[in-house]
Amino acid sequence: MSSELVIVYHRQPYEEVEVDGRIEYRENKSPNGIVPTLKSFFGKVKNASWVAWKEAEDTSNPGFDRVVHIEDSFGKYTVSRLPLTKEQVSSFYHVTSKEAFWPILHGFKEKYNYDPVDWPTFREVNWAFAEAAAAEAAQGASVWVHDYNLWLVPGYLRQLRPDVRISFYHHTPFPSADMFNVLPWRGEIIDSLLAADVVGFHIPRYAANFVSCVRSQHDVGNVPRVRVPDDLVTEGSALSDRTVPTEIHMSDGHVVHLGVTPVGVDVDYIDGLAASDETAELAKRFRAEVGDGKMLLSVGRTDYTKGGADQLLAFERLLERRPDLHEQVRLLHVSVSANRAMTVYEPIQKELEEIAGRINGRFGSFSFQPVALISRAVPFEELVAWYQVSDVAWITPLADGMNLVCKEFISARRDGDGVLVLSEFAGAAVELGAAVMTNPFSSRAMDHAIDLAIDMPEDERRARMKLLRAAVAKRDTHHWAADQLALLSPKDFGDDSGA
Ligand code: UDP
Repeated sequence: MSSELVIVYHRQPYEEVEVDGRIEYRENKSPNGIVPTLKSFFGKVKNASWVAWKEAEDTSNPGFDRVVHIEDSFGKYTVSRLPLTKEQVSSFYHVTSKEAFWPILHGFKEKYNYDPVDWPTFREVNWAFAEAAAAEAAQGASVWVHDYNLWLVPGYLRQLRPDVRISFYHHTPFPSADMFNVLPWRGEIIDSLLAADVVGFHIPRYAANFVSCVRSQHDVGNVPRVRVPDDLVTEGSALSDRTVPTEIHMSDGHVVHLGVTPVGVDVDYIDGLAASDETAELAKRFRAEVGDGKMLLSVGRTDYTKGGADQLLAFERLLERRPDLHEQVRLLHVSVSANRAMTVYEPIQKELEEIAGRINGRFGSFSFQPVALISRAVPFEELVAWYQVSDVAWITPLADGMNLVCKEFISARRDGDGVLVLSEFAGAAVELGAAVMTNPFSSRAMDHAIDLAIDMPEDERRARMKLLRAAVAKRDTHHWAADQLALLSPKDFGDDSGA
């Protein structure tokens, strides 16, 4: 019970590797994903802990130390490992979170699967996370809880530790009331979130949606709004509120602050990587492989929210519509297959393979394949080189909380060239109004956007990229970290947080 900052995130913040019968905790150097960004907070406060789950056959006798003390390049920190059985993990994470919450968060009612949800297990696991966090937190500490699979933690933690400051951050979209209220546990979830001091979102629209959900359940009177800064909602961004709700006053006097802080990428790190000799070497090799013609790049996970099939169909139409592009344009479509425990993603993988195969069959030759479909994860160093050699980054999710790939692409373009085609339904569209915006639900809009990108003259490409690079550099991971620290504990950490 000694940490002034406790981060509660479902996954452990390192890779655990067994070497000669001993467990080593290896730092994952890759900058992608949110874990390294969260770990950067360890350097900013004196005593910090991380709470995560670790699988155990017998949770009362897990066969591993529940608490380990780690020291790595991010600093010294404690990790509290909550033993969960395989069945508990499957139920709370793979079933309740991914089959029931995920589709609703992203607006896919038809994918929502209520039947297999075991709500008592979801409660039990969230309670255990709350207990583990309560055990780590010093008096008056800040506890920072991440993502929808831990939605009930703020409410439970408030019961266990009324003294701590609780902040909850959503890494996904937050849907409007009509969508959210499909969840039969809506009251319990909203009440838990309202027990937090801060509820955080990527963009203004998600915060406004949250308020609509709260209003559908509680009379919270007038919710004050402020204008968002111009650099947060940029020119060209069609789908953003220009004002943002700031706080909800509950009838018992409790105030819930709403934080709108879009997560960014580590611009300095990506820039360093992009400037390295190794990346230059890789990029040279890739460029030679690509040859002449245009190179389109699409990177994402195999998930229905990412709109992979719609994009491949748009590529097929491109080749049908424009014979001038035959053997002149190629698409590298990286769609990383999901965890094998999640069978919901199998049909999507099949569909992508089918469409890509058909396109290559229809438009390819022995020496030229228009689509390369890659379903393994590409190492980040390689991705950066691909970002550099691509003419167009084609990022068209149907729904996406933020989307970091598009920001990484921009950060990697030290040459100031390259075109980003971006879905209006990615959270990043709010900041990246200078991208070629598209609506992935419309074939016509998709066709128009990809034509525009392929045919764009160099001066326009450079003018847009300049704006995009400025937007991404302005709100990088350090900016996000500073905003989060201010929200987490405005009094204690503040600016002199390097103690
Ligand atoms: N990524 C990667 N290799 C791949 C595909 C993706 O390293 O083959 C990384 C990518 O660089 C990015 C992250 O995975 O940092 C995906 O984040 P994003 O926000 O775009 O999507 P999410 O998967 O979180 O929905």
